[in-house]
Parts: sequence; C-alpha cells; structure tokens
Amino acid sequence: MRYRPLGKTGLRISELGFGTIPILSGHVPVLPAYFSPDDDTAVAIMKKAFDYGCNFFDTAIPEEYGDAEYKLGRFAKTIERSRIIISDKARYYSGGEIYREVLRSTENLGTKPDIYFVHQVDEDNADEVFGKYGALDTLYDLKREGRIGLTGIASHYYSVLYRAALDPRVDVLQGSGNILERGMLDRISEEEAFREKGFILNKVYAAGLLIGPFTPGELIGGILEYPFSSALLGIGTFEQAETAFAKEHEQLHFSFDEVTDRLRNKFEPIACDRCERCICPYGHEIHTSFRQFNYYHLGKEFWSINKLRMDMEQTHEHCRSCADPVCMKECPRKINIPEKIGRVHELLRTYGNPSYEAIKKEK
Ligand code: SF4
Ligand code: SF4
Repeated sequence: MRYRPLGKTGLRISELGFGTIPILSGHVPVLPAYFSPDDDTAVAIMKKAFDYGCNFFDTAIPEEYGDAEYKLGRFAKTIERSRIIISDKARYYSGGEIYREVLRSTENLGTKPDIYFVHQVDEDNADEVFGKYGALDTLYDLKREGRIGLTGIASHYYSVLYRAALDPRVDVLQGSGNILERGMLDRISEEEAFREKGFILNKVYAAGLLIGPFTPGELIGGILEYPFSSALLGIGTFEQAETAFAKEHEQLHFSFDEVTDRLRNKFEPIACDRCERCICPYGHEIHTSFRQFNYYHLGKEFWSINKLRMDMEQTHEHCRSCADPVCMKECPRKINIPEKIGRVHELLRTYGNPSYEAIKKEK
C-alpha cells in the first residue's frame, strides 16, 4: 500500500480507503450492492484490509449507511486507534443539526471521528452550510474543542468543492470521479487552491457499474495519476478487500476515447465526462441527465429512470425551443447538448412501453 499526504493536515493516508456501504445490513434501497455481513464478519473484513495496509475507513450516519457506523466502531476497538483514520458524515446543513449528529456518530462509533463531513452539499444548501451558524461553523468549533479531528465538505459539485477549497475552515474535501466521469478530477488537478486541502475520492467503480467493462485493477490504476489523497473503494467481502488492497496497483492511463470505446461494446454512451462546465439558464443539470442515461445502460435501470422522470419532460421542452444553447459554449467535448437531451428523453418515453419493445424485437 502506498500512502499520500492528507493535504496540509500532517496525516499520511493510504492511497486506497475502505468505503463501508457494502458492509451494512438492513434495507437502504438507494445504495449500490451491499452484502449484509454479520458484525463479526464485517470486523474481520476491515481487519483484513487493515492488515494489507489500509488505514482509512469512511462511513456515515445510520440513515445513510445502515449499521456500518456501528460496525466500524467495533472494528476500531480491536486495533490501536491511532493507526487508522475514521471519517464520518451526515446530511444536515445547520449548525444545530450537525452538532447533534457529531455527538450521535461519536456515540455510535465509540470514538472520536478523525474527519467529519457535511455530506451532499449542493448549490441549494451551500449558503446555509458555509454561512454564519451553518454546519461548517459548528464543525470548525467542534474541531477547536477537540471533539472531531478535521472538518470536511463532501459534494458532487465542482462549484461547491471549489468554494470549500478556498475556505480556511475546511481541512478535507470529498468528491466523486472515475475514469469515465473524470471532468471534475481534471479541473481539480489544474486548480492550485485544491492543493491546500486533503481530497477524498469516491465512486471509483461508479457504484460498481463500471466493473464488467473494466476490471477493478483498471479502474483503480486509471485514477492513480490524479492528485487525490485517498480513493475510497466500497468493500463488502474478503475477496473485494483482497482485490483492492493486497497489492500495489500499477498506474495506468486510459484516454477518454478509450473508455467510451470500451463502453460501446455494450451501448452507445453519451460521451460526457461530467466536468460541470455547462450552465443552463433554466437550471437544468445536464451532466446529471447524461450520467443517468449512461448509468441506465450500465445496469442501474430502475433507479436512473426514476431520477430522469423528475424533470426530463421540462428539460426536453426547454431544449427543443431553446434559441440560444449557451450550455454548449464551454463544453470541452463539443457535445450537442439539446440533441443528446432528446436522446435521454426518448429513452424515458420508450422505457417499459410494450408496443415499442415489440417493434424493437421485430426489427
Ligand atoms: S439547450 Fe438551452 S435549455 Fe437546453 S440545456 Fe442548453 S441552455 Fe438549457
Ligand atoms: S456536457 Fe460537456 S460541459 Fe457538460 S458536463 Fe458533460 S462534458 Fe462537461
């Protein structure tokens, strides 16, 4: 296992970290595959990862990660506590709420979280999080009181992560990316402000969806060139721990075209890298629609369709009559965005339509 500096915190963190979603038990339907190991097995899997050199374990409150927080706490008691870094998170945005959650997480873990993230910060809640008496102010106070080690902001949005990178109260950022959805990683690599902070990368396997077209070794090797501190891998079995941590992965380089070409064996992807540079005056999240389209074809059918149903009709309507598609001006991939929105809309229109399925079969 290789280790990297966690920003300017003075900590060294394993290049690959243990994401605890797959060890949860219970029923949390929005999450990717999990394996429901009993407590002893979950602890043994974490111990195996630790023995391979993994010193970073990430979890969240029970509403988000089921009983994973308790299981991680049990594991932490079996080893010398200072040898691992535990990060925890909660999706609450006011100071009072995050204060309550930090106390609850500390009790569930039975130990102080080394990093505590405000989870899923987006453009709608960012002002509350970063503002006076918001969650970040409180985390900063809790750090000064010694109740948490470091403060963190977790987000899928570049604009939020950039704001956090500039904020002196924040120690560590958490964002997502992989060899397909690399646009945000490319931007972070180019921006000096991010060098001041620790950076935790998640979604390396795209919730498991890129495994198949790519091996875990390719997905891990392909992101190693990026300047993150630790990349989280969801681990739910001994085999997964071994695949992820038993050896040092070779750094690989896949061009974006190589990645999309590989996916073409399965379906025609929308070649969006999720750089989030496309801004729509109507507020449509173009990159999210394109992600759901690709995820649908990679196997997350029902979930993607449900997400797309939320606003695709309106997006499509606006795009069809859009006189000035400003969203395309900044797209480095030169994607014809309204046309691709039409493709996403067509997928939604024909999904589960029996007559359409019959026509497809006849063809
Ligand atoms: S084509 Fe117009 S309406 Fe559609 S996403 Fe772009 S800017 Fe927005
Ligand atoms: S559509 Fe273009 S600008 Fe928008 S996220 Fe995708 S690659 Fe980036």
